[in-house]
Amino acid sequence: MTDDAVPTVSATIVYLNGEYLPLDQARISVMDRGFLFGDGVYEVIPVYDRQPFRLDAHLHRLQQSLQGIRLNTPLDDIAGREPIQQIVAEIVAQAPWPDMGIYLQITRGPGPRDHAFPNTPQPTLFLMPLALGSPGAAILQNGVAAITAIDNRWLRCNLKTTSLLANVLLRQLSVDAECAETILLREGWLTEGSASSVFLVHDGVIQTPPESELMLPGITYEILLELARCEGMPHQVCPISEEVLRKADEIWITSSTKEILAVTRLDDHPVGSGQPGPVYRRMLAAYQHYKRTVMRGHTA
Ligand code: PMP
Repeated sequence: MTDDAVPTVSATIVYLNGEYLPLDQARISVMDRGFLFGDGVYEVIPVYDRQPFRLDAHLHRLQQSLQGIRLNTPLDDIAGREPIQQIVAEIVAQAPWPDMGIYLQITRGPGPRDHAFPNTPQPTLFLMPLALGSPGAAILQNGVAAITAIDNRWLRCNLKTTSLLANVLLRQLSVDAECAETILLREGWLTEGSASSVFLVHDGVIQTPPESELMLPGITYEILLELARCEGMPHQVCPISEEVLRKADEIWITSSTKEILAVTRLDDHPVGSGQPGPVYRRMLAAYQHYKRTVMRGHTA
């Protein structure tokens, strides 16, 4: 496909409340609680070769987030006539790229500007495709820099809500410092990144914090733990102190869109040798193999 043939972003087909339409024609009310209060939840589902990856896990997390914000309308009722999987399939089929992220957002819908929920919420459901680029060779070769900051978010970080202002401000700190991510510490303990999960390697053992209300249950986090188990790589899910983080031989950040990136500088100090470490290289090879054979559904 030539560049000319790639539709502009504004012409990309999105889904909004029962309709498929170009992005620049999608409209919601200014009284939508997503706009007024950030009252909603979302998911980003990676798609490789037009196959949604771990759709069930993403929809399960979406349902957990809906329950967490007490938007009790079942997902099937929100989607209405079409099952949500069907809507995802349609957006994937119409997208200009074979690899993409499907952004899916549900808000509590329009209502009076009152903090209290409307009596009968009419949720807004919106899906759009996002271009998905795998990390480039230079980043895989050299890793990225990160900074740390105090995790000043609320106490329900396990919910994937659209109220992302704290994450936005924390991420901007690393943008200002020309770094790829802000790694968060709450009362001296590692939680996660502003938009990623965090792993480290200490004395040859992969470590990551246990799931809790203080971090998002990452789908990529789950995959890495599965790969570590399958590959027989020593690993431990345990609370990680700031001291252990700063002494780590390797630090990685993970997400559906970033995949796995080695953090080679933290707060302007080299991590380990200052280069992506041997455990990272092994995990990256396992992840890439998994992506080739399972996510893309090709044989090895
Ligand atoms: N934590 C936060 C705060 C995130 O925004 C993300 C990215 N969605 C993650 C962790 C990683 O989650 P996943 O692997 O499901 O993309």
